[in-house]
Amino acid sequence: MTLLECVFLPMKPLSKNIIFALLAVLIISAIFSSYSLRSAKPEEITLAKVVEEVENDIIESIKIEGSEISIKLKDGTDQTTRKEASVSLSETLIDYGLSPEQLRQANIDIKDRSTRSYIMGVILPSLLPLLLLMVIFWFMIRQMQGANSKAMSFGMSNAREFKDSKQKITFKDVAGSKESKEELQEIVEFLKNPKKFADVGAKLPKGVLLMGRPGTGKTLLSRAVAGEAEVPFFHISGSEFVEMFVGVGASRVRDLFAKAKRNAPCIIFIDEIDAVGRQRGAGLGGSHDEREQTLNQILVELDGFETDTNVIVMAATNRPDVLDPALLRPGRFDRRVLIDLPDIKERNEILDVHAKGKPMAEDVNLRNIAQKTPGFSGADLKNLLNEGAILAARENQKEIKMKDLDEAIEKVMLGPERRSKVINEEEKKITAYHEAGHALVSHFLPNADPVHKISIVSRGRALGYTWNMPERDRLLSSSAKFDDDIAVFLAGREAELMIFKDTTTGAQNDLVQASKMARKMVTEYGMSEKIGPLSFNGKDDLVFLGRDIAEAKNYSEKTAQIIDEEVKKILSRGEAAAKELLGKYKNILKKIADQLIKEEIIDRDEFEKIILENIRITN
Ligand code: ADP
Ligand code: MG
Ligand code: ZN
Repeated sequence: MTLLECVFLPMKPLSKNIIFALLAVLIISAIFSSYSLRSAKPEEITLAKVVEEVENDIIESIKIEGSEISIKLKDGTDQTTRKEASVSLSETLIDYGLSPEQLRQANIDIKDRSTRSYIMGVILPSLLPLLLLMVIFWFMIRQMQGANSKAMSFGMSNAREFKDSKQKITFKDVAGSKESKEELQEIVEFLKNPKKFADVGAKLPKGVLLMGRPGTGKTLLSRAVAGEAEVPFFHISGSEFVEMFVGVGASRVRDLFAKAKRNAPCIIFIDEIDAVGRQRGAGLGGSHDEREQTLNQILVELDGFETDTNVIVMAATNRPDVLDPALLRPGRFDRRVLIDLPDIKERNEILDVHAKGKPMAEDVNLRNIAQKTPGFSGADLKNLLNEGAILAARENQKEIKMKDLDEAIEKVMLGPERRSKVINEEEKKITAYHEAGHALVSHFLPNADPVHKISIVSRGRALGYTWNMPERDRLLSSSAKFDDDIAVFLAGREAELMIFKDTTTGAQNDLVQASKMARKMVTEYGMSEKIGPLSFNGKDDLVFLGRDIAEAKNYSEKTAQIIDEEVKKILSRGEAAAKELLGKYKNILKKIADQLIKEEIIDRDEFEKIILENIRITN
């Protein structure tokens, strides 16, 4: 929560209160005025007349309210008169010449409500505004206290505690990641049975760092540890430590650890720890004091644990490379668990987990979906199934069909289809040749991935796309594979150039990808002859690392020049390979493009059929 919220939000009910107060004033004054209107009706008489009426004995009753006197005659007439509020009626009447005996004899029913009505009629109306003011002040003070107490609690960690077992997450809910689960099982056992470990003198790590790409299930896994161990789980995100106020982060850390110690055994989970745990004394501009203090405090707390405190600190990050080395030192986050992107088997398991509760049609084959989704994270797969379900519901189906899931894969990868996007004939033709170029070259290069689908239906930002899919998950890439991939990237532009003698902006993304790949080959993977087996670490990574940009280039100008030359050489090589293949199979390129213009989408079988048919003719 930010300061702004704290000041402005609580004021909202106050303005409502003012409206209420105003309403109350309006209503009360309305009542008063109608009251006085009613009492204004009776005939107004003098006190002398009252004396006369007493003497004539025609009065039924007299009501006194402060200075107001209402008289009811025996014949039913209402009259009013006034007297001094401080003097009683009998005294007044006697002053007017009535004898006390006469007054007694008159047997008048005098209802003197003077004291009560004096308060009602005189004091209350004058006090009312004061009372209202007091109420308003009271509200204001209360609001301010509210805001104040929030200001005071800024220093407190707002870690959320997950204790209730209703929505308990256990290792069963985490599909795949077998190794990570095994490593964490140790932590679970320690939390459940610390004595067993203490007896043999084993010290368990205080800190466990989960590392993995976004969506690979780090947060999920840490919650599963808490669920398995059945201990309190304090969850806070790294960015929550650092807010507008300087000094808040450190005191929040202190508070969080104090809270945890009180609840031991328990787990503290700091999500996205890179938000506070970046290398100190580094970064682009800005003051990092606050973050550094927070980090220092975390380090202090980690060190300050006594050995018998059963508090385990877990943290997650997708950028372990930017973390301050001090965090990773033994005795701190020394246990590191790497969570990889799921392989095909794990993807299948994750799909199985999330397919629960979603009715699937007979034709659905989750193994096949797993096959088609290399590089998808757990979160992507969950999203995929959800998109599939949405598509099925939109078509009013009772079950999710395979075609929905196939569509969902592309939607997750490239964004939604935009059939309505108007493409003119010329653009359609260019896109068709461009995509046909990618597809054709990837088919004929031995190391490129086979074509799965070609489409010129625009989707997300892309006007068209060629979907190549590896036969199996790949862990290592060879330099020959990179060369072929670069040729495939450049083939779209080459095809445009060959057919239309011109290039378009449509090839921009291809060029970016190809250049990036070529540069990595040279500077990171040692795949160029001239540079040799040297790795410079990419420039981007260094900026991320938080070091100064100026420092990023750790090679001389001369080397930089050689790198540029080598990158260019690789790209030209790819360009030449693409050009050669496109020239050789120009007739097939035309066939594919024509088919695309006609049908907009070509799948793998159809694509291979076109190639087989036309190759026979060429030979
Ligand atoms: P991270 O914290 O690594 O970015 P999360 O733990 O928040 O990722 O994962 C996001 C979602 O993806 C989870 O809520 C879960 O539904 C799903 N998910 C990720 N990995 C798995 C897995 N191995 N098994 C089941 N679901 C997973
Ligand atoms: Mg997370
Ligand atoms: Zn392209």
